[in-house]
Formats: sequence, C-alpha cells, structure tokens
Amino acid sequence: MDILGQSSLILGVTSFALGFSILSRNVKNKLFLAFAVLTTLVSCWALAFFFEKISGSGTFYRWHLFFNIWLAPAALTLIRVMVRIRDNTSRRLLDISVLLSLSLSVALILRYETIPWVLLLIYFEPAAVLLQIFVLMWIDRRLRAGFKRLPKLPTVGFSRRNLIYAGGLLVLATTVMDHVPFLGKIIPSFGNIGLAVYLFFISQAITEQRLLNFGALFSRFIVLLAVALTLTGVYSLLVAWIENSPGLFFLNSFIASFLILMLLDPLRTAVRYFTHRLLSKEHRRLEQTLREAQRKLTGIVDLGSLFQAILLTTEQTLQPGWAALFVLRGDGTKYRRVRIAGKEPQTVPAPGASPILKEILADHPLLQYCESLQKKGELPILLDQIIENEIDRSASRVQREGYAALIQGLKALGSNLLIPIVDSGKIMGFVTLWAPAPPEPWGSNWGLLPIIYPYFEQVAATMRSMEIYVRQREKERLAALGEMAAGLAHEIRNPLGAIKGAAQFLDPTDDKPESRFLRVIIEEVDRLNRVVTQFLDYSKPPTTDFRVISLASLVQKTVEMMNANPRPGVKLECLPGDTTIQVQVAPEQIQQVLINLIQNATKALEKRVEEGIPGLIQVGIEREGVGQQSEVIITVEDNGHGVKREHLEKLFIPFFTTSPSGTGLGLSISQKIIESHRGRIDVVTEEGRFTRFSVILPEAKE
Ligand code: ADP
Repeated sequence: MDILGQSSLILGVTSFALGFSILSRNVKNKLFLAFAVLTTLVSCWALAFFFEKISGSGTFYRWHLFFNIWLAPAALTLIRVMVRIRDNTSRRLLDISVLLSLSLSVALILRYETIPWVLLLIYFEPAAVLLQIFVLMWIDRRLRAGFKRLPKLPTVGFSRRNLIYAGGLLVLATTVMDHVPFLGKIIPSFGNIGLAVYLFFISQAITEQRLLNFGALFSRFIVLLAVALTLTGVYSLLVAWIENSPGLFFLNSFIASFLILMLLDPLRTAVRYFTHRLLSKEHRRLEQTLREAQRKLTGIVDLGSLFQAILLTTEQTLQPGWAALFVLRGDGTKYRRVRIAGKEPQTVPAPGASPILKEILADHPLLQYCESLQKKGELPILLDQIIENEIDRSASRVQREGYAALIQGLKALGSNLLIPIVDSGKIMGFVTLWAPAPPEPWGSNWGLLPIIYPYFEQVAATMRSMEIYVRQREKERLAALGEMAAGLAHEIRNPLGAIKGAAQFLDPTDDKPESRFLRVIIEEVDRLNRVVTQFLDYSKPPTTDFRVISLASLVQKTVEMMNANPRPGVKLECLPGDTTIQVQVAPEQIQQVLINLIQNATKALEKRVEEGIPGLIQVGIEREGVGQQSEVIITVEDNGHGVKREHLEKLFIPFFTTSPSGTGLGLSISQKIIESHRGRIDVVTEEGRFTRFSVILPEAKE
C-alpha cells in the first residue's frame, strides 16, 4: 500500500467521524448539515479510492469519480451557508456547479469517462471549487463593503474568514495535485492529510462559532493526540501479542474497548484542561485573577465592599456587557438588586416588553432550578445556551415550556447567565449578566465556567460569616441595652403599682362613663408590668440551683396546672412518656419555659378556634441517644397557623413579636434559660399546619 492509499484511508475515516460528530450535535442546523454532507462525500471519495487501491476494481474507481463530481457543489453550499452569503451571483454559481455535476454524472453513467477530455473534466471538477472560492471571496468583499453602513454583519465571529478561503485554496490545490494523472504524482501526498486537518479546523470553527487561534487549535490537536496514543497503548497492550487465537482476540478487544470507553471522557477532559491551561495565556491570566480575587475576599469586612468586589471580579473575568448583583432581603421573601456594573440595557419599547426586573421572589423558578441543580450535585450556573439545549433534548411539552419560562426569566433580568451564591444549600444572592459571546478563554458554551464557581462559593462563605458577625454584634448590643433597661425597669415598677392602686381606688367597676378609662388604665398598667417583669427575668443572671428530678412528673404537673384554666376549643394533652428520665435542672425555670411554649401554642390556635377548627396541643418527652451522650427532648406541638418562613430566624431575638399584646420576650427568655442548662431549643414548623418546639436537655446520670 502506497502512501496515497494510506492517506486516503485516514482522510475517509476522519472526515466521516467529523461529519458524524457535528451532525450528532444538532441535525436540524443547516450549517451542520451542509458540513456533514460535504464530509460524507469526501469520506466516500477517499474510501472509494482506497478500496480501488487495494482491490484494483474498476467499480471502486468509477465510484471514486462519481463522488469527485459532487464535491464542488457540496463545498460551495457549505461555504455559502458558513459565511452567510445570500446573493444572486453565488446562487447562480451554485446552480452552474450543480448542473455541471449532473451532466458529468450522466456522462459517467453512460461510461463516457473513457473519452480523455471527459475524464479530465471529471477529475478536475473539484478544482472548480478553487474558482468558486475566488468568486465567493470577491462577492464577500463587495457585500461587506456594502454592509458597512449597516449595524453589524449577521455573521458573528467569522472575522478571519480569509483564513478559511486561503486554507481552502491551499488544501484543494494540494489535494487535486495528489491525483494529477498526467504528472505522474510528482508532488508528495500531503493533500489528503491536509484536507483532513482543514476539515477538522472548519469543524471546530463551526462548533465554536468563531475561528480558533493557533494555541486553541494546537491544544485540541494535543488532546486528540494524547487520547489516540493512550487508546493505541491500551489496544496494543491487550491485543497486539495475541497470535492466531480469535477467541482471545475478541475477548481482549472487548476488554480494551470497554476500558477505552470508560477512560475516554475523563482523559479527554483532563488533557484538554491541562493543554488549554498550558497553551492559553488568557486561561492562566483568568486563573490568576480568580486566585487574587479569592484572596482579597478574606480582607473584606463590610457588605458594601463585598458587593463591589463581586461585581468587579465578574467584570474582570467574564467581561459582560452589564452585570447585576441580587441579594436576599432580611425577611427572606425576595432578592433585591443591590448593585450593577456596566450600563443597564434600555429595554426595547416593543409592545409587551417589560422593564428589567429589580426584584424577584425567593421562590422564582430560576432559583428553584438552581437549587435543583445544586441538589443533584451539578454546577448550579444557569446559561441560556445550556437551557436551550435542554429544550431540544426534552421530550415532553411541559418540560419544554418549563425551560422556555426559564429563558424568559433570564431575559426579564436582562441577562443570559446567572451565577448563584449558595451557602449550605441556601441561595443568599446571585449575579446576573449579559455576555452572549464568551470571550477568550471561556470556550464555546462557556465550557470553562466550573473554574469560576469556587470563587462564588467563597463569596457565599464570606457573606455568611459577615451575617453571623452582624447578628453577634446585634446580640451584644441588645445585651448591653438589656442591662441598662433592667435598672430602668425597677424604676418603672414602683410608680406602676401606685398608678394601679389609685385607679382601683376610683372604682373601675362602676357604670359611669369615666370608669371605662379607669379599666383601660388598669389593663395597660398590667401589660406594662408584664413587660417589665419579663424583662427583668430576661436580664436576671442564670440560677445555679439545679436539682435532679423526674422530667415526666414535672411536665405532667405543668400540663395539669395549665389545664386547670382551659381555653375553650383547645385541647392540651400530655403524651405518655418514659417515667425513668431524669434531668438536673432548676424546676421552676423549666416550668416557666413550658408554660411559655404552651401559651404561645394557645395563641397560635386562636384563629383556628374562631374558625371552628378544634385546636390541639400535645406535650411529649422522649430520650435520644445512649450512655453519656443521651439527651432528653420535651416537645410542644400545636396544629396552629405555623411560623412564617421569614419570621423563623427572628423568633429568639428579644422583642420580636407578631402579637399586639405580646412582649416578644417569651422565647428569648426560654432560650436563655435552656442555654444555661446546656441545652437548646429547636423549632420545626409548616405554615398553616403545625409548629413543634423541642427543648433538648442533657439527661442526668445516676
Ligand atoms: P410573644 O409571645 O410575646 O409574642 P415570644 O418570644 O414568646 O413572644 O414569641 C415570639 C413570636 O414567635 C410570636 O409573636 C409568634 O409570632 C411566634 N411564635 C411563637 N410560638 C409560636 C407557635 N407555637 N406558633 C406560631 N408562632 C409562634
């Protein structure tokens, strides 16, 4: 087998693979289709030549000639679609090319190829592409000159199209020279290999939507080379040493193929990543920028600077047209836009076009989708192109509509990319940006996006630690305030007693109209007194008077005490629990906590009772864990209105209350008491259904 036959085989196989891989991405895409048609023709053309070489059969030779004839119109169609030339001259050129191919095919069918000049025409028909390319270049020039005044050519990215032309010319010239019959093949057979490389180059340009620079192209070659070498290694290791043993050959080929299939993807990804990193200056710069940005995060102490830093890094690395940062509001209901970078796009004043959103609800589908990706362990970054691919792939209409709504959601934010800031599964904020064409080195479809995500994870951690810090400071501030107020409370209580005494002396039970005011005075004095008493409780130092008691009897006694004064429509019951559980506590304090929780539950049931729904409060105890680590849990569960999501975090903050007659101190006092017992209080709730408070205490050991 000479080098020409061998190279034909290589060309035949690679061009077939290229066409197939491009077409598998999207069969409906016109450009992909045109490319696949050309590569299939090239493949058949080369393979027919190869088979003719090994078999010497005239039939293969005639097939080779046949495919030869159709190369020109296929190439022309591809170029037209690729550079998006739609004018009459090139259309006519294509018509002529098709006509010529048709007549040459007929000539071939009629076996006129024996006539030398017909054979010459058939043989050099691909050379017609050369001519066509020249004409196209000229048309392209002219068109572009004409388009100058128009906003932008619709051909995104193909700026270096001359390279396509020049490469095409060169490759075609060498390919045609390969087969010059009259010159006795004086030119080395580079044509086929050149054509294979050229087709590879075009295929990359097609999928990337732009021409690759040398580094990127080279890195892809290295990837292919490394993968091919490894695969050859695997095959040779397993198959090459087998001599005349077909059974073993099949078994080992099977194992080798299995290995290869498993290795292929991770290997390709790894090699691609490393060569890209090695060869691409932009990639290295990007990584360095991200590293520096991450380092700077540790020095940031206030939210304002953090917001600024996030957008700065976004701008430096992703180079968006504009970007915005949204952060979850304190009440957890909405994300609010807190900062933007770049110029906010003016919404087109088209009918129905809405202005860009500055706030979105916490349960917006976009964020729910982010959360679902996160839960699946996938990268939770939303990109319009990826979602569009999902639309292509999804089978059901509902799914497609869901994805389309996501794209609409992104558009409503004026963006095509959304990166969430997630901390322990919770989205604390997100960055949206408008960057339709990925700059170097992100790769088509933003293939490198995973490398930016760790930065956003650190942003989330920074945000959380800042929140904790802010909350801690708030607590300290309140503690200081509490001490001051405790002094004040003593001062208030004495005059309160005097006011109440005086009001009672004037007889509020009287029927006189003024007595109504006296009753108001007494009610308000009582309320004020309650606040002050509770407040004093809150600021009291923790007691150290702990005793070992039976928890079941304490709980039962408290429930009985509360049941002595029952609320109509509310059933309070004590679930049977382990009577052997003992705790070391200050019993009055634990009782105070229980009373408080039961009173809260009763309050949460008020509305239910008004609606005629029976209220139920269940108090139970249980033990969890064994030995030294065992804990006891007292639960107080009601079927009331539940706690709103946005209120959950604030329940234990002093003075937080949703009730007009409440003080907002009950839970904070309870927490303080339980914490002084080395325990904690947990709450589980579902809005509109139930609330369960659990008081967890260490079990007392004998
Ligand atoms: P207060 O009862 O004086 O309002 P608390 O600190 O005891 O103060 O409670 C704070 C808030 O927690 C209440 O106003 C209420 O909104 C909420 N809450 C407490 N317990 C429950 C419960 N069982 N169901 C629903 N909400 C509750």
